[in-house]
Amino acid sequence: MEFKPPTWSLNVRCPCCGQGYPLLLVCRACGNVAAECDEVGTFFPDPFHLQASESAICAKCGAIGNEQFTQASDVQIQDAGLKHGQYW
Ligand SMILES: [Zn+2]
Ligand SMILES: [Zn+2]
Repeated sequence: MEFKPPTWSLNVRCPCCGQGYPLLLVCRACGNVAAECDEVGTFFPDPFHLQASESAICAKCGAIGNEQFTQASDVQIQDAGLKHGQYW
């Protein structure tokens, strides 16, 4: 059996499509948390202010590209200042 870590999403509807919930990601380079629409793939550099960016880019270190980001862990999300109840 393959181990699959849990994925975490913001518990607000995605502003780009109104369907999905933005999946929480973390920058591999600096650990900054970002979000991405799980339906359309729209990238939001700041999970606190969901404003779409044209491409996946880290708001902190400037790393560009979807491959720069991986699924955020519970600990990383809380380090970023998000609280239980703001994501699931
Ligand atoms: Zn969306
Ligand atoms: Zn970064």
